[in-house]
Amino acid sequence: MTQPKNKVVIFLGPPGAGKGTQAERLAAEQDLVKISTGDILRDHVQRGTDLGQQIKPMLDAGQLVPDDILIALIRDRLADMEGVRVIFDGFPRTRAQAEELDVLLEELGAPVNHVPLLEVPDELLIERIVERGRQATASGGSGRSDDTEEVARKRQDVFREQTQPLIDYYGARGHLKRVDGVGSMDEVYTRILDGMK
Ligand code: AMP
Repeated sequence: MTQPKNKVVIFLGPPGAGKGTQAERLAAEQDLVKISTGDILRDHVQRGTDLGQQIKPMLDAGQLVPDDILIALIRDRLADMEGVRVIFDGFPRTRAQAEELDVLLEELGAPVNHVPLLEVPDELLIERIVERGRQATASGGSGRSDDTEEVARKRQDVFREQTQPLIDYYGARGHLKRVDGVGSMDEVYTRILDGMK
């Protein structure tokens, strides 16, 4: 099946909702590029770049990195794509980022198509994140420095305060689809696909 040239999907949802895993699968199956800002930022921290050194304290504290840094990163990332077939995982996270993304996508002639919102109750989110931290440590890696209960709670607060408004932003544009994020990975994936029909 030939795929349309442009497709833009934004995965919204609190930390621990399963955005990364689901986005990975959708990207593989629909020939999309997954753009995870968390991964890009962590890579800078690991490589010890100037940017990495600047933002490490923010990631460790569960705070958002300033909008202008994110917007520059995304602008760069989209710059030399031929046909914009992307899934954003963890971006945008503020209204300013969403507005800038709309400007950028308009320039590229690739408007947002779908915004699945993965919904998971708070206590389950914290459990999942703490478990992810535990498993990473158990398998010999150091894991994510922000996968502790304390930072996870902070990240939920940040989501509520800064990212929740995007639900209305995309809702008003008719892109938002609420998806029950409780269940097996397959169940949730099927619900995401149903929401994009
Ligand atoms: P994530 O892997 O998406 O949970 O992101 C991990 C951390 O990276 C967040 O807690 C923020 O510190 C930072 N981060 C990732 N994406 C963004 C974004 N769009 N805006 C601001 N900070 C971000």
